[in-house]
Amino acid sequence: MSEAERASGDVTSSKSKPVTAAEENFGVRARNISIGYTIRGRSEPFVAVAEATFDVRPSEMVCIVGPSGCGKSTVLSAVAGLMPVRSGSLAVNGRPVTGPAADRAVVFQKASLLPWMTVEDNAAYGLRSYGTAKSVARERAHELLAIVGLSNFAKSYPYQLSGGMQQRTNLARALAADPKLLLFDEPFASLDAQQREMLQAELMRIWADTDKAGLFITHQIDEAVLLGNRVLVSTKGPASHITNAIEIDLPWPRTRNTRLHPDFNGYVEHIWSLLAAEQV
Ligand code: ADP
Ligand code: MG
Repeated sequence: MSEAERASGDVTSSKSKPVTAAEENFGVRARNISIGYTIRGRSEPFVAVAEATFDVRPSEMVCIVGPSGCGKSTVLSAVAGLMPVRSGSLAVNGRPVTGPAADRAVVFQKASLLPWMTVEDNAAYGLRSYGTAKSVARERAHELLAIVGLSNFAKSYPYQLSGGMQQRTNLARALAADPKLLLFDEPFASLDAQQREMLQAELMRIWADTDKAGLFITHQIDEAVLLGNRVLVSTKGPASHITNAIEIDLPWPRTRNTRLHPDFNGYVEHIWSLLAAEQV
């Protein structure tokens, strides 16, 4: 099996229904992408990611783990359309990525809420900026706040919320425009353990009945195994590449109890050993 085939993985895991021809174009298709930063005063760019090949198919969640600085955020920025790829090909929902677009939304580690707006207005903000009428945007915001468990806080301001609740609002905002692809850059990394588990559970519940595709970056292996259809393991940088795509064949829907599945720790250990081999 070639590296590319391995990275694409198999689509027969129990959540992802077989992908139909109509759906084939949706999701992410990255082939040998390399991404670099221009450094002032240097003629050569700093190559952060030299070779990344992977797919994210509709309704799949694909996680990327790797050592700090290996280029995870860089890959996510490229998929978001915030950074160009220097070589290789990158398509989202069947079209080459040329910049940010409404078909994808990013959830960053830090909830970037507008402090002077209420939770409902923050949730509706994206929709309003796309020209949705205020009443429609607000109604949709309320639906989303119900989904993320924040109905009672619609009129609160971000400073009145815990970190976990701010991140729920952020998630509601990302879901508002109904993007086909959600990109997560360590969204729960700065939360305490209990809030992180609650947010993971919330995301798993939302994910159980969505056909969206997700790319989820984390440095926590157990989080990747819990949430992902597949886990991509990045080598350390610079010029990192994605070495392994591990199919996580645990039952769907995923819940907190998935951690108790007899195969769960085996996956965690396997990925841990791949990462440990990277450190030497
Ligand atoms: P990760 O998210 O895996 O921790 P990043 O994608 O943030 O890693 O960074 C990958 C590499 O690119 C690192 O070596 C980092 O120092 C470098 N890098 C990140 N952002 C910039 C930038 N704006 N300019 C130059 N180098 C950068
Ligand atoms: Mg990062």
